Amino acid sequence: MDFSLPESAQAVQQGVADICSHYDMAYWERCETEKRWPEEVWGDLAKGGWLGLAVPEEYGGAGQGLLELAVATETLSASGSAGGSAFTYVLTPGFGAMTLARHGTPEQKAALLPKLATGELETCFALTEPDAGSNSLAISTFAREDGSDFVINGQKIWITGVQRATWMLLVTRTIPAAEARPRTNGMTVFLVNVPDAVAAGQLSYRPIPKMGANTTPSNMVFIDDLRVPATNVLGELHGGATVLWDVLNPERILLGASALGGAEVALRAGVDYAKQREVFGRPIGSNQAIAFPLAQVKAKIELARLMLYKAAWSFDNGLPCGTEANIAKLTASQAAWEAADAAFQTHGGMAYSLEYPVARLLTDARIGKIAPVTEELLLNYLATQVLGLPRSF
Ligand SMILES: Cc1cc2nc3c(=O)[nH]c(=O)nc-3n(C[C@H](O)[C@H](O)[C@H](O)COP(=O)(O)OP(=O)(O)OC[C@H]3O[C@@H](n4cnc5c(N)ncnc54)[C@H](O)[C@@H]3O)c2cc1C
Repeated sequence: MDFSLPESAQAVQQGVADICSHYDMAYWERCETEKRWPEEVWGDLAKGGWLGLAVPEEYGGAGQGLLELAVATETLSASGSAGGSAFTYVLTPGFGAMTLARHGTPEQKAALLPKLATGELETCFALTEPDAGSNSLAISTFAREDGSDFVINGQKIWITGVQRATWMLLVTRTIPAAEARPRTNGMTVFLVNVPDAVAAGQLSYRPIPKMGANTTPSNMVFIDDLRVPATNVLGELHGGATVLWDVLNPERILLGASALGGAEVALRAGVDYAKQREVFGRPIGSNQAIAFPLAQVKAKIELARLMLYKAAWSFDNGLPCGTEANIAKLTASQAAWEAADAAFQTHGGMAYSLEYPVARLLTDARIGKIAPVTEELLLNYLATQVLGLPRSF
């Protein structure tokens, strides 16, 4: 077995790290407190061609896979953005471009992929509803066929990045959940032009005040008689579940990568402080009570990374990757939380001061245990799908 990263992924790691080296922790702190999109980093990533990493070469991208995207996300996150800001990379290059490349019609790909590759267009992904989060097949946003159009009504929640997105990947039901057999049938994904829909008064949104990850707002979205041409269906009518699975596994892998990067930043912060802070006349890191939690986190990061890269590699090679993606997301998020908690404890009282980054890292790390899928649902998957235990629901 060869565990070395392929040259393509090493080049991505180097290229993204070079860009990120111009932005220190204070930059990311400012973006968070000012609730500001990291415009400068985004611009540099666009200039360097890193936004089109997974866009096929014929559409102006680099034609790379999920492994390279995951490495880019981890590198960006580990540079200091941490989990809260890695959405910068995941929303458009991940969810938008990769999904379109796999499921778009030739016309959709030609119209959108070249502009997604340059960052001229951005995307957001709208699945979660107030009454359907973990149980995503229970969504009720409904698209009714009307001539050559569909008319969509419903409500979404937590939709991140609507403000910047030109295109929303909107997940709907075209057969109500109660009538669908199997339940995965009757889902349809639409490409919705956000500015046009807003101008027509058919879509509106309202940011949700949130405890962190404020570089990218998350929103309530209201959809009222939204008219979308049938040519904007992404994938098959009623067959949106296939598109969804191709979003959800990469989503778990990419947000796992972002959590992993967050774990690395937090571990670094903890170790640096443990070496430099002296109490009782010696560095606090010489106390095993401080050193062991940090050492334990190091072990967990390395283990989570192995599974994460395996999951991405499996996806790229057309192999089943559900188990790997779920384990990678679970363990990377746990590593991020434990790293942030260990770094926080290591900082003593100074952890509570906003002059140090650990409070932000702790807040950021907490999201990974909830979004885009909760820890419990990941464990449910492993218990029922992998271990064959009976379902509780
Ligand atoms: C910052 C942020 C950004 C987000 N961005 C997006 C986005 O861009 N697009 C999008 O579509 N969504 C987004 N989400 C939504 C996210 O995917 C959901 O919050 C997540 O899937 C959980 O759904 P829920 O909040 O409805 O929790 P619920 O489904 O209400 O779950 C509540 C609790 O009950 C537990 N639970 C439920 N059922 C079971 C069970 N059978 N067994 C054990 N425990 C169970 C859950 O694990 C959880 O702990 C975002 C969320 C956040 C916080």
